[in-house]
Amino acid sequence: MKKKLPLIGKGIAWLAVAVAMLWVFIARPINFTSGIYKPEYQVDSLLLQEHVRKLSKDFVPRDSEHPENLLRTAEYIKNALLPSADKVALQSFTVQKQQFVNVLAEYGPETEEMLVIGAHYDVFSNLPGADDNASGVAGLIELGKLLKKIPLRTRVELVAWPLEEPPYFASSDMGSAVHARSLKEKGKQVKLMIALEMIGYFSDEKSSQQYPARLLQLFYPSRGNFIAVVDQVLSNQAQKVKSALNRFTDLPAYSINAPSFVPGIDFSDHRNYWAEGFPAVMVTDTAFYRNLAYHTAHDTYDKLNYEKMAKVVYGIFKYIQEIDEKK
Ligand SMILES: [Zn+2]
Repeated sequence: MKKKLPLIGKGIAWLAVAVAMLWVFIARPINFTSGIYKPEYQVDSLLLQEHVRKLSKDFVPRDSEHPENLLRTAEYIKNALLPSADKVALQSFTVQKQQFVNVLAEYGPETEEMLVIGAHYDVFSNLPGADDNASGVAGLIELGKLLKKIPLRTRVELVAWPLEEPPYFASSDMGSAVHARSLKEKGKQVKLMIALEMIGYFSDEKSSQQYPARLLQLFYPSRGNFIAVVDQVLSNQAQKVKSALNRFTDLPAYSINAPSFVPGIDFSDHRNYWAEGFPAVMVTDTAFYRNLAYHTAHDTYDKLNYEKMAKVVYGIFKYIQEIDEKK
């Protein structure tokens, strides 16, 4: 009995070391300090709200069963991006004899290397889809306005895709799959792709944040009041995006590097850029791990926090600016 105790002690010590190593590997806890939010260019939270309100009320349904409404939505996004972009184009493709379009807005000069930021504009079923994903689309439109204010050295492409939701999810017909393939075929070098997948829902309530695995509760907050950046196991992109969000805003950002078999890790358009070998991350409020209105009629515009959304947009803008200046 006496001899076993040190053995148990050793076991616990090794377990603690293993958990700590996992924490460092998965969560990459590099910066704990909260930044100060002093934007040099304002992101207008009222405009974010206006886009989300319009999309989630006037453009319903916008699922694959209503291609005409998806085209109307694409037109809205195109018109909203036109004043800020150098050029806006529609990338047309056909699925089941129906026409669908990606909306592509270009900023900065044509360069070999490019940055891609995108959001899907379709919705699951006939639901309002305010957080999923009018929030990402609104963020994309307001990000365009910030990009117009700075001289860019790198081509930045903002893209809005349809057909992210079932029944096309994970198929080669997703708008983002069509776009990623076209970049590959043109020989483009994507330095980074960022998918804005639900960026509007936050909660300060205790236990408002759930996780796909128990272990993750040790590494991440129990309150859903942060933004998450999701990445592949061996990449360091999420860590960098997270760092910018934490330095330039006071909204806490956390990153996760995990394999795709962890549920949620590849649940959006970034998966299609990974498939083409491009570095890509997803910026998200963690969807159904936090927002109980996910894929229900309760996913409405009045539930979102537009001040926090504005900070997400600004943090991503500052990261684009940083990469661009390093070029
Ligand atoms: Zn979505």
